[in-house]
Amino acid sequence: MNDLTASLVAKIKDSGLKPTAQRLDILEYLHTTENFQSVEQIYDNLYREYKVFSKATIYATLDAFVLAGLVNRFFGKHGEARIDYIVDDSAYFLCVDCGNINRVKVNCLDADIDKSKVEVQSSLLTYWGICEDCKVKL
Ligand SMILES: [Zn+2]
Repeated sequence: MNDLTASLVAKIKDSGLKPTAQRLDILEYLHTTENFQSVEQIYDNLYREYKVFSKATIYATLDAFVLAGLVNRFFGKHGEARIDYIVDDSAYFLCVDCGNINRVKVNCLDADIDKSKVEVQSSLLTYWGICEDCKVKL
């Protein structure tokens, strides 16, 4: 097992999930490819590479990753689900004109949630607007 594989196995275990071979393959794919891919893109690329993943497996695995806090899922310009491997306090700025997506750092995010009564599994903040490049064209 190489260093990357070992660190991904540890990451999956730390999240509370079992590090199955499929989960490891999917997380490794997300770790080593571009961010913000749509779920369809992820499925197409993984299917081309491994042939063994069904669409249901990919969707179920990504759902489990989102709930375990291993990846972020947000919605792109056309409402398509996008996946981001980086999850540390990230929010997203999405341009409604060109569809460009940028990760933004959130400094303080307090929600009025009584954590003694509920269990928060994930949260996500997306800003929608016009990016710098599109704004100068207006
Ligand atoms: Zn733009």
